[in-house]
Amino acid sequence: MIAVESVEKQFAGRKVLSDLSFTVPDGQITALLGANGAGKTTCLRIITGLLRADAGRVLLGGVDVAVQPMAARRQLGVVGDREGLYERLTVVEYLSLFARMQGLTGASLKRALESVREALELDDLWLRRTRGFSQGERMKVSLARALVHRPQHLILDEPTRGLDVLAARLLRRTLLRLRAEGTTILFSSHVMSEVSELSDRVLIMAAGHIVGGGSPQELMRISGCDNLEDSFVALAYGAAADKRREALA
Ligand code: ATP
Repeated sequence: MIAVESVEKQFAGRKVLSDLSFTVPDGQITALLGANGAGKTTCLRIITGLLRADAGRVLLGGVDVAVQPMAARRQLGVVGDREGLYERLTVVEYLSLFARMQGLTGASLKRALESVREALELDDLWLRRTRGFSQGERMKVSLARALVHRPQHLILDEPTRGLDVLAARLLRRTLLRLRAEGTTILFSSHVMSEVSELSDRVLIMAAGHIVGGGSPQELMRISGCDNLEDSFVALAYGAAADKRREALA
């Protein structure tokens, strides 16, 4: 389980996350929605340990990411922007490097590499250097890197951005399979159809905190709308407008 507890974050004196608290249960897919600038990436970066919160804490399976970063990293896979590939390495060299950094060696390393090669259909890319890879190819390699050590928790920031239909499908299929295996999945997205298809729970962020949460059906009921997009607009933008009015009062 991921637990975000009373997290605060400012940049240059400007509050970006404010008393942010939520949990992400095991074996479920949770989507994080919010307008541009709502604070989703900042929140995900704090969960993954890339940024430090000013206050509050994040627990991954009970491990505080700021206090025991190495132990947290062992049970975490991250798919962020897809720019971090080492372009001189082939896919298999790149994945081996990351798998070794997670402590895998010998037969277990071999098994882990075979498993991601098969699951993510990497045969054609396996021996290619990653320089010049397309968006979809980069996504596959990033996802393989995130999964090679079979983490309990998987965090993805807008994972289908820029992907073609087949690559997006492969990603969705992979997430559904991982959920069935019990993985804890949190992803951000602006694509309502994929959020509806994948998510057990949806968290809506506005102005740095959670303004609504529940299954897609629950959010529709709460907002009185008959589709997720309208529910999102009602909850996210209604809440943002309320906050702006509060700030001006
Ligand atoms: P989007 O949907 O556009 O990706 P987001 O919800 O992921 O948006 P964040 O990237 O978390 O939003 O940004 C939240 C706010 O924090 C924005 O106003 C952004 O400009 C600001 N911000 C984020 N990182 C920094 C930084 N390193 N320095 C200054 N401001 C930042």
